Amino acid sequence: MISFDNTELAFAYKTDKELRKAKFLFSLMGIGWLVKSGTRLTPWAIKNHFPINGIIRNTIFKQFVGGEALPETAKVADRLAQYNVQVILDYGVEGKEGEENFNHAADEFVKVIQYAATQPNITFMSIKLTGFARFGLLEKLDAAADNKSGVEGRINTDVLNAGEKEEWQRVVNRLIKICEAAQRNNVGVLVDAEETWIQDPVDALTMQMMEKYNATKVVVYNTIQLYRHDRLQFLKESLAEAQKKNFILGAKLVRGAYMEKERKRAAEKKYPSPIQPDKESTDKDYNAALEFCIEHLDKLFVIVASHNEYSNLYATQLLQQKNFPLNHSRVHFSQLLGMSDNITFNLAKAGCSVSKYLPFGPLKDVIPYLMRRAQENSSVSGQTGRELQLIKKELKRRGRK
Ligand SMILES: Cc1cc2nc3c(=O)[nH]c(=O)nc-3n(C[C@H](O)[C@H](O)[C@H](O)COP(=O)(O)OP(=O)(O)OC[C@H]3O[C@@H](n4cnc5c(N)ncnc54)[C@H](O)[C@@H]3O)c2cc1C
Repeated sequence: MISFDNTELAFAYKTDKELRKAKFLFSLMGIGWLVKSGTRLTPWAIKNHFPINGIIRNTIFKQFVGGEALPETAKVADRLAQYNVQVILDYGVEGKEGEENFNHAADEFVKVIQYAATQPNITFMSIKLTGFARFGLLEKLDAAADNKSGVEGRINTDVLNAGEKEEWQRVVNRLIKICEAAQRNNVGVLVDAEETWIQDPVDALTMQMMEKYNATKVVVYNTIQLYRHDRLQFLKESLAEAQKKNFILGAKLVRGAYMEKERKRAAEKKYPSPIQPDKESTDKDYNAALEFCIEHLDKLFVIVASHNEYSNLYATQLLQQKNFPLNHSRVHFSQLLGMSDNITFNLAKAGCSVSKYLPFGPLKDVIPYLMRRAQENSSVSGQTGRELQLIKKELKRRGRK
């Protein structure tokens, strides 16, 4: 039976100094008011050139980000490879708009794929459609979608004017360029899930790409957010659609990162919240999604993307119950860099295929990602406490304070 309590294994790749820094950081992230004001003030301070880059670079950036440029990630990837931990590269630039930036991002993604192909333990890369598509354009397409368009891969471009239609075609072309490069170089592309009010065209386009590139192997994966009450059903319908259209489904299962924002918007605009009523319901659907995927491994590939100890353990138990090996070629596990090392390294030790999600990018551009990590580590009850407890346990074991 796998245990996630072995801190010696979990933190073997960290020096005493790095562990002490992590302890300091997680202690700070446990202070609610500090995170609240910090996440509000930091983006403003960076934008207005306050001299805080050094502090950020040495603390939260170092903990959660692989580096500012692609070559810097190699050091982290090499270190992880020593423990049989793979890497998912994530060019983490967010919140930029304009055709020039979008073309640049698409070129960066292709470079990431070409680079990943030269590295033995970088098997996937992740993308956000908002990295190369205008948010407002996605919002307009989403508003015109019906509740089946995402799963069926239908996009209603009739609502767009002539200029917007061309703009959309450029988005599609960028994604095709990325997926073709990925197919040629044997690298998996994970399409991140984002806010519900842009998700329909993201799902629809991802389904189209899966149909085009997943005929014999899985190149493209969609992300299913189980904190949405409609997503377990969406997962099942996605598989039925994949069967109908003869492609292999790639599914990355997450709980979801935008809960507070989603609930706030729903309350403000007076529509029913798309989020589950409570954490238990999210957990229940996440674990049901695991059961569904492991039941249908002949028809899909699944990535268990979670820091939840029970869900990770449950996935390994489901494999064992079916007499599948823990290193099943269609099951992969992943956690974010800087979080839940106890899960990642103990899964790797048990033989599972597991990776760290490694974002990289210029400091000012990865701020939205860092703010999400800070919020997640303060608002999710237990998460920070658990990280801190494990770090303290390991420092004690090493005879350090
Ligand atoms: C490799 C990787 C890739 C990821 N990619 C994406 C992505 O593409 N899109 C995305 O949105 N997120 C993504 N995430 C983040 C993920 O969605 C979660 O925010 C994060 O992992 C925390 O959830 P957990 O499964 O680790 O477990 P836990 O810590 O057990 O669960 C916390 C999560 O449960 C849910 N939750 C908490 N309280 C409640 C409540 N009261 N009611 C209902 N639900 C609640 C929320 O989703 C919260 O984030 C990714 C995470 C990983 C590890």
